[in-house]
Amino acid sequence: MTTAPLALPTTPDAWPGWVRERAETELARARELVEGLRTDPPAGAAAVLRQWDRAGGHLGNVAAAGSLLGNVHPAEEVREIADEAEQEAQRLATQWSLDRGLYDVFAAIADEDVAGDPLAARLLAKVRADFRRSGVDRDDETRARITQVRERITELDQEFSRVTRDDVRTIRVTPERLAGLPEDWLAAHPADGEGRVTVTTDYPDSVPVRMFARDQDVRRDITVAFLERGWPTTEPLLGELFALRHELATTVGYADWASYDADVKMIGEGPAIPAFIDRISAAAEEPMRRDLTRLLERYRQDFPDAAEVPGYDYNHYAELVRAEQYDVDAQRVRTYFDFTKVRQGLLEVTGRLFGLSYEPVDVPVWHEEVTAYEVVRDARVLGRIYLDLHPREGKYKHAAQFTLTDGVAGEQLPEGVLVCNFSRGLMEHDHVVTLFHEFGHLLHHVLAGHGDWFRFAGVATEWDFVEAPSQMLEEWAWHADVLRTFATDAAGEPIPAELVAAMRAADDYGKGIYARTQMFYAAMSYWFHADRAAAPGEVPDLTERMIELQDRYAALPYLPGTHMFASFGHLGGYSSAYYTYMWSLVIAKDMFSAFDESDPFGTAAAHRYRDRVLVPGGSADAADLVADFLGRPFAFDAYAAWLAR
Ligand SMILES: [Zn+2]
Repeated sequence: MTTAPLALPTTPDAWPGWVRERAETELARARELVEGLRTDPPAGAAAVLRQWDRAGGHLGNVAAAGSLLGNVHPAEEVREIADEAEQEAQRLATQWSLDRGLYDVFAAIADEDVAGDPLAARLLAKVRADFRRSGVDRDDETRARITQVRERITELDQEFSRVTRDDVRTIRVTPERLAGLPEDWLAAHPADGEGRVTVTTDYPDSVPVRMFARDQDVRRDITVAFLERGWPTTEPLLGELFALRHELATTVGYADWASYDADVKMIGEGPAIPAFIDRISAAAEEPMRRDLTRLLERYRQDFPDAAEVPGYDYNHYAELVRAEQYDVDAQRVRTYFDFTKVRQGLLEVTGRLFGLSYEPVDVPVWHEEVTAYEVVRDARVLGRIYLDLHPREGKYKHAAQFTLTDGVAGEQLPEGVLVCNFSRGLMEHDHVVTLFHEFGHLLHHVLAGHGDWFRFAGVATEWDFVEAPSQMLEEWAWHADVLRTFATDAAGEPIPAELVAAMRAADDYGKGIYARTQMFYAAMSYWFHADRAAAPGEVPDLTERMIELQDRYAALPYLPGTHMFASFGHLGGYSSAYYTYMWSLVIAKDMFSAFDESDPFGTAAAHRYRDRVLVPGGSADAADLVADFLGRPFAFDAYAAWLAR
């Protein structure tokens, strides 16, 4: 390995061979190191751990480049080669995790052998836990069953995503019933030969219709269709998925799936999840009532006898409250966010805060719109970043930070990529917020790429903490003094502070309702799994459980006859841990409380945060890093104050 940045291919023709060859070389090195551990391990526990960690580094190189290029490369051939490389790396990782001989190598290391090296000891504990959690130490019959269960879980997960993705429902209405929708939307949805417009449950259709259609029946019909996606097909799939996760967790020694999953997260144990949900719900009680009161007041102008606002009318009336009570003209806001100025502003703001500079470098990239920079601190190159920020065919559709390489001091430079889909001209402000958010992940990746272990490099922190640095950086995209440094209109006039204040106030409206909705989802994600510990025959019906949890947590009433859980996709990827985003937000708000809001460019707190939270990566528990930065354990107060604001 070398600390020079990775040299990407210089011509389009060279890409397929380059991706293939890099994957082969790196996988061969990984296999060689692991084979050596089995047959001829180096002397000393630290050397064994190092060899395992480096094998993981090579494997990570294949998985990272595979995942990135499979999502961004313009040539389909390259995307396919990259996808295959990523899958091959995943197969090898699974094979290692179930390799009894390999497990025995680490089981044979005594704790005293690493006593003098805290990070090696931390790594050893994690490696052993990984193996235990995979069930590699169980008898042959149990391991065969675990393999079978894992494969079935993967199948169910994929089937659940496929059904919910493909189950697009529609309603057909006459054009006049779509009054209220924006002109460009209506132009893109002409009536068919029978004089009807088809509205699908896909987001670009259903979101604007729920928000803008003045016809209440249309709003209700599309909402019901949306909430019925996946039903009833996915119910048995989900039932089997939850049961198998429970079986897997209990087989390897946990009380239930949520405890298995939480064991490697900051929250630590399963029962801490419902306790967190209840705590957030209590903090959100008053803010939710305040939001609902304003909503109902507005609603009663149209429906004087209403006692509550039904779920299908929420988006429409929340938007009316925002539009009528806050003076925010979205068209005017956009004029201040020219893409090129925003990108430069982001680099200047974060450079100033964290003592960094970003030097543009003219190097080969996978598409002409991608820009590359070296991240420099005190004349030393810390890493390389690539910004790939506009949509194109075949590219990843969301916003995310991808890794190209993880960094280890003296061995490999950290390189990361932002993949987003922003307009090339004027941007929406929420896209500016997204850009700051994703850049928070990218900084974490680069700054934490200078330790001694791949396992702890970059954003290798607990999964429920990983969104805290990114959510915190969003705060700078809401600060008038920060925005005025780059958000200027065509005449060069900076965005007025009053407009930013109005934007913030409008954005704040509804956050009590939002927090309670999120806790309803988090409660479903937890209880659907935890309920599997009940005696057979006593596991609650999913619809009944959902209705009960919606009544307890959500701000808005259940819409009779609907089955929202049937298309709640996060039950796949997040499983019992949907609480994580809110958990990270609580910590982000607490960390932000250590900054002086009247001095958004103050560097004292920013540098302390950089050095104590970001630079260490996964080398310590996130709770300890946060406590080191704040000088106390993290608390809920800042979050609760923000919610009540
Ligand atoms: Zn994020």
